[in-house]
Amino acid sequence: MKKGQLLALIRSKYNISREIIQAFKSINRENFVPQEFKSQAYHDIPLPLKEGATISQPTTVLLMLQYLNIREGNKILEIGAGSGYNAALMSRLVGKKGKIVTVEVDEDLVEFAKSNLKKENIKNVKVVLGDGYKGYSKKAPYDRIIVTAAVQEVPDVLIKQLKLNGILLAPVGEHSQELVKVKKLKDKIEEEYLGSFIFVPLR
Ligand code: SAH
Repeated sequence: MKKGQLLALIRSKYNISREIIQAFKSINRENFVPQEFKSQAYHDIPLPLKEGATISQPTTVLLMLQYLNIREGNKILEIGAGSGYNAALMSRLVGKKGKIVTVEVDEDLVEFAKSNLKKENIKNVKVVLGDGYKGYSKKAPYDRIIVTAAVQEVPDVLIKQLKLNGILLAPVGEHSQELVKVKKLKDKIEEEYLGSFIFVPLR
């Protein structure tokens, strides 16, 4: 499949915003997958990066971005940089005034993500080596937080690093996951369940 075909397929099933479609068109997924999988870059499947890490299925990536409701200028924290692909799309969505921080626990993947983002000449993404369960307090609070690996529950630390009225998205569960959208309101935390997905677990 080619990029345009994949996009048409996804759009035939889901309502994806114009901005997200534009971002998807502008980033080459083949720059974010290992050499041996480049020919499959536009198949709607996750691809292996290394043990315990995959670049998520395109449909999942676009749906998560849709649910995240990103605005220009947003500051976003991602947990699990992996290939850097999702961060690249978000970098387009937040624009020049926005900023993405993406935390990755695996040293090789930190380097992989950095070099992939360089290929697309992306400058507003900071890739950080660290444990995502701790978030990244140095740049907190964030408008949006996206966890791209499965967690048992939404970590409190991450909710603390979210701005008021901010949105956090995380796949929660052990074998299969329910995608949970958390909204931080003035006097409560609102949760919405968005359906089941499969993710690799957060370590
Ligand atoms: N968003 C990525 C896909 C992420 S797959 C992309 O667009 O390609 C999940 C990633 O989470 C893997 O890269 C894995 O190494 C990373 N990960 C696992 N446990 C982690 C932890 N505790 N902190 C940060 N990253 C973690």
